[in-house]
Amino acid sequence: MHITMVGTGYVGLVSGVCLANTGNHVTCLDVDQTKIARLRAGECPIYEPGLEELIRRNVKAGRLHFTADKRAAYSRAQAIFICVGTPSDDEGFADLKYVLAAAGDIGEAIEAVEGGEDSRGGDGRPPVIVVKSTVPVGTNARIRAAVAARTSRPFLMASNPEFLKEGAAITDFTRPDRVIIGADDRRAADLLTELHEPFVRQGNPILVMDIASAEMVKYASNAMLATKISFINEMANLCESFGANVDEVRRGMCADRRIGNQFLYPGLGYGGSCFPKDVQACMAMGRRSQTPTPLMAAVHEVNQHQRRAFIAKIEKRFGADLAGKRFAVWGIAFKPGTDDVREAPSLTIMQSLLDRGASIIAHDPAAHATCRAAAGVGDRIEYADQPYATLNGADALIVCTDWDEFKHPDFGELRERMAQPIIFDGRNLYRPEVMARLGFEYVSIGR
Ligand code: NAD
Repeated sequence: MHITMVGTGYVGLVSGVCLANTGNHVTCLDVDQTKIARLRAGECPIYEPGLEELIRRNVKAGRLHFTADKRAAYSRAQAIFICVGTPSDDEGFADLKYVLAAAGDIGEAIEAVEGGEDSRGGDGRPPVIVVKSTVPVGTNARIRAAVAARTSRPFLMASNPEFLKEGAAITDFTRPDRVIIGADDRRAADLLTELHEPFVRQGNPILVMDIASAEMVKYASNAMLATKISFINEMANLCESFGANVDEVRRGMCADRRIGNQFLYPGLGYGGSCFPKDVQACMAMGRRSQTPTPLMAAVHEVNQHQRRAFIAKIEKRFGADLAGKRFAVWGIAFKPGTDDVREAPSLTIMQSLLDRGASIIAHDPAAHATCRAAAGVGDRIEYADQPYATLNGADALIVCTDWDEFKHPDFGELRERMAQPIIFDGRNLYRPEVMARLGFEYVSIGR
């Protein structure tokens, strides 16, 4: 099948590469010329384990192409996947300007195909426009109207929200827990089912439903996951206040099969490009429809509080004026396995410490380049190529991301290098009793 991915970011690139790997001809389109130039030069613009190798293999096989030329990208496509960003607008609603701009481009391209539908991918049938971006309920209808405003030729619409996680994106795409297809047309549903069949050979379900419900599945899923994180963080804070240990509480609680043990780890709260904006979008959908969403508001507030509370612990130890204090930070990315720093708790924490006069030297295995571009922090901190190099003369170590390489450090070396053996651990990587034995002042979450 001839497929075009519109937007070559985390979702578009990974999905495009995986679809090429099952034998489809995939063209990845992006308006960012630099990104396309890097991809054409064989360079992967994002950090995602295994992706570069898969790109190389599929480019070599002639199934994967990168272009910034819209007309070329759309001319043969049988399926067009919209994978552009949907960041929050000023009101917290999903900003649809990229999605609607892509829809306009697609409409023009469908209209301009020489020889009409007969030239399209060889099957002569109307293309299926598939919305992979996370969009509020009703957006597919707006996209349909935006495309139809530019062409009188037929096309079909479908929703196919994406559930991949950065850091495990290829595994998630190729072995999804479920595939959601929203379609009101049988052919669109069949085409998407056919494309996804190679990825559900273990029997995981492909669930076909109406478009509005498919759009909502994505928000409901992310809202649930964010709720779990805020829930366990609120419990951790109560544990801290009353002298309980959240690790033990978690163990006891999660033995109940109705609760389960997934995604209930206390820490600095959620970040990234999805949970914060999707929770905000649920609240905005509620405001627009006058449907109360007090739970989403609380989930968001708990998440914000978690960062403030962590900063307050540092302030309690060192005072509000941090001039002359030097902090080592381990981990900048919003979670391990990615270079993505969008809405990362580390940025809020570092900015707050910098504003109080502290100096910071940070290490992250993947996120230095993305952090350098982050406003308010990127050019105000130093970067170290390896974790131990951050520690020389540091007044404290602050752990913001649970990368594997931070889990078993040489604590003797830490103590030798640091000015004071103090660790603020935002990810509960170490055991309090071990840290006490080793002579560290150790502050973690809910213990
Ligand atoms: P991203 O910002 O990494 O990539 C979006 C890309 O689209 C950019 O490269 C941008 O240049 C390009 N673009 C913008 N307008 C364009 C146009 N008119 N034509 C072609 N390209 C255009 O975004 P992302 O993280 O891949 O997210 C994309 C969507 O998928 C969002 O709605 C997001 O919520 C959703 N999503 C993201 C993840 C994730 O883990 N990142 C997971 C599931 C769903």
